[in-house]
Amino acid sequence: MLPSIFQQAVPVLKKIERAGFDAYFVGGSVRDHFLGRPINDVDIATSAYPQELKEIFPKTIDIGIEHGTILVIEEGREYEITTFRTESAYADFRRPDKVEFIRSLEGDLERRDFTMNSMAMDADGKVYDPFMGLEDIHGRVIRTVGSPDLRFNEDALRMMRGVRFVSQLGFKVDPDTLNALKEHSSLLRHIAVERKTMEFEKIMGGKWKREALTLLVRTNLYTELPLLTQHKEALQQVADLPQLEVINKDQAWLLLLTYIGDTDPQEFLKGWRLPTKTVRERSKELEVLQIRRKSGWSKTLLYRAGLEAALNVEKVHECIESKPVSSVETVKEEYHSLAITSRQQLDVTGNDLMTWTDKKGGPWMKELLAEIESAIVTNTIKNDKETIRRWLQTCNRL
Ligand code: ATP
Ligand code: MG
Repeated sequence: MLPSIFQQAVPVLKKIERAGFDAYFVGGSVRDHFLGRPINDVDIATSAYPQELKEIFPKTIDIGIEHGTILVIEEGREYEITTFRTESAYADFRRPDKVEFIRSLEGDLERRDFTMNSMAMDADGKVYDPFMGLEDIHGRVIRTVGSPDLRFNEDALRMMRGVRFVSQLGFKVDPDTLNALKEHSSLLRHIAVERKTMEFEKIMGGKWKREALTLLVRTNLYTELPLLTQHKEALQQVADLPQLEVINKDQAWLLLLTYIGDTDPQEFLKGWRLPTKTVRERSKELEVLQIRRKSGWSKTLLYRAGLEAALNVEKVHECIESKPVSSVETVKEEYHSLAITSRQQLDVTGNDLMTWTDKKGGPWMKELLAEIESAIVTNTIKNDKETIRRWLQTCNRL
């Protein structure tokens, strides 16, 4: 029996077939099915041209019609359906100059990057695998469809995709494909930063980061990645950390920031065109990590960090130190034992301060609130309105 995510889409395939065309599941979902990995969405490929699909399905949205992809809405669900196509003549190492719609499945499978990604499965679960993808899945090998030299010259992003599959799946790269990675690494410079970042983020989130990062170093691909040219050692140091496997993507970025040393963390992250929020979060975590490594946790540092950052920081610290026993749980408990975890929880407000002092609002209020906050976080006083008022009186602040 096919997994339910395929089952749901079977009526869509059947409908295309009834109209006289072929339709298959293709790409990552078929690969992940045979790997026993969770499947997020299924890609469907068909011999029907986009115009023909629109005649079959009443509800469609053009999402990439020039590449032959449309979104079909059936029974309230969305399906991405792409017409079989070939991609010819890549003049700039990144995008096909011309996309041509074709009627044959095999032609479509042939344009795909790796053998494991070039399998198709029909509505009955029958597999079409002209490039022996299943064999490579069982042998845990990443191998290009056809000549790796040719395929990386057509589209250099495939080299990054290869490395990210190493990180996600733990597969080995076939020797010919590996040689081509080494030989053509410099072609990666033609690829837009955003696209490299998308793959690098997947590398950082994979379980086999050690193998993937080592591969980036061995193939020299790292020299074509934003601001990494000077950081071969940093990359290798991160790759060599024994606990790297359990580190998530955010923590992996934080590790990298730690090992690149003098490079300004904000500039580094911006160089990858990461979202502002990510740049802010990782830079803040780096600051907290540096204090934590120098002086350990204090209540004030925990409070300042917030729970999520504190846990990321501790995990990264653990990884750098190769600590045999995890201290993340302890940090979590310490965090939850803080008297307050945000300023909103203070039992006084600016209004209280104005009433007590008979003064107008102004910057002094913010400063005083910060002092109160700090006294409460450090357990100097209790978070209780009357206690706070008396404490302020004793300090001659009222
Ligand atoms: P993921 O599970 O991360 O989505 P995926 O293999 O499905 O991995 P997609 O980017 O969703 O990756 O692409 C879907 C399919 O399209 C791939 O499985 C592959 O067959 C083909 N493909 C994607 N990018 C390329 C490329 N640069 N060159 C050739 N074929 C590609
Ligand atoms: Mg996919």
